[in-house]
Amino acid sequence: MAGVATWSVTPSRHPSRADAVVVGGGCIGASVAFHLTRRGLSVVLLEKGHVASGATGHSGALVRQHYESLVGIRLARRSLEFFQRFERETGFLCDFRTTGFLSGARTKDLEAFEALFKLLAGEGVKVERLSAREAMDLEPGLDASDYAAVVHDPDAGYADPIATAAGFAAAATRAGATILEDTASQGIVVQGDAVAGVRVRGGHRIASERIVLAAGNWTPGLARPLGVRLPIGFIRGDVAILRRPVGFRNTPRIHFDFYNGTYSRPEGDKDMLVGYMRTDPRKTVRRHELTDDSVRTSTVRGLRTRLSKRFPAMARAQPRGGWAGVYDVTPDRYPVVDRVGPRGLYVAAGLSGHGFKLSPELGRLVAAYVTEARRPADLETFRASRFRDGEPIVPDAPFPARHGPRLP
Ligand SMILES: Cc1cc2nc3c(=O)[nH]c(=O)nc-3n(C[C@H](O)[C@H](O)[C@H](O)COP(=O)(O)OP(=O)(O)OC[C@H]3O[C@@H](n4cnc5c(N)ncnc54)[C@H](O)[C@@H]3O)c2cc1C
Repeated sequence: MAGVATWSVTPSRHPSRADAVVVGGGCIGASVAFHLTRRGLSVVLLEKGHVASGATGHSGALVRQHYESLVGIRLARRSLEFFQRFERETGFLCDFRTTGFLSGARTKDLEAFEALFKLLAGEGVKVERLSAREAMDLEPGLDASDYAAVVHDPDAGYADPIATAAGFAAAATRAGATILEDTASQGIVVQGDAVAGVRVRGGHRIASERIVLAAGNWTPGLARPLGVRLPIGFIRGDVAILRRPVGFRNTPRIHFDFYNGTYSRPEGDKDMLVGYMRTDPRKTVRRHELTDDSVRTSTVRGLRTRLSKRFPAMARAQPRGGWAGVYDVTPDRYPVVDRVGPRGLYVAAGLSGHGFKLSPELGRLVAAYVTEARRPADLETFRASRFRDGEPIVPDAPFPARHGPRLP
């Protein structure tokens, strides 16, 4: 029977060469390492802290398919299917729980709602269109009275982000990869026009002709010395955990509330997790270090107030803590996944708040790119040059409320 992932402690000696070195042990790097081993490559994964210690361990870990662009829906759908069979694929548990997803539109946004609904349905998402009444019958506790229509995706859910990254890492280890925790990449070695390896502590070097930078918020800093500038800014994200009050019995679905600026989901059997929707590229800052990943009491109260506009009973919810993390955000809110700089260097960064749910499929695509040296069609959209070329990703069915004024 599958269990929680573990792997042998960091070996005292590490390989001096590998077919590929992955820098970063978040959900993206761990997924890339897993998929590379599936393709038969020898892999070393370097992680400066521990697996999932970055944004992944701070993630809300929602797995939804509700995207405004075809590429987002497609990758999210394939990733969701992977989460559903995670144990079969990796041999480990990621604790994926199907909850369903609800999001509503006010009358002024109905036209955009219909277009988005059509896009989702056309891509094979099993969406249902509900009236406000039907939504409130389905989700007791929800105030949908201002909605003219509601979309329901019964397949969406959430997983444990730490177990997911650890599961990918452990499965990669089983297939022969070496995971080196507490081991930072101290620089990429370049010979001629190609990468030749990675420097680690003690003057050691791991030789490799293929290096994948999947270091989340740290990726731009690792790429810069190689002459690669990535258009990625940073934004803080706070998450609160609230105990559902007595009488709020049903486990709620994921809810995206574009009008009050929150996303929420159940957390276990008794609590709800809530966060602000905050990945507006215009609000990003250049530095990303979090000196403290705890969440302020006033922020928890603010989130509770905001959530109770949609779930009135939550006004009486008891705070159960929370945390803060940092989003890495690009100007069009889609990642940069590309071969950049010297030959053999790949980046997968700027996940813009989507990294967890897309990690299974992005890992698979990056592994294909690295081994076949030909860009998979789905990654064409995420090329780094799109910003320079004035071709950012434009939503196929934009939902205006999502892009409205950001809330505090
Ligand atoms: C509050 C919050 C809520 C979120 N909610 C969701 C959600 O509901 N759904 C969703 O899909 N996404 C969500 N996200 C986004 C998602 O969590 C991220 O996109 C994803 O975790 C990014 O994974 P990553 O592997 O790219 O980066 P990370 O998880 O940050 O991993 C990068 C790793 O690289 C390591 N590293 C850095 N420098 C070096 C070095 N020099 N050498 C070796 N290792 C190094 C770091 O220690 C880190 O562990 C959320 C993010 C936040 C902050």
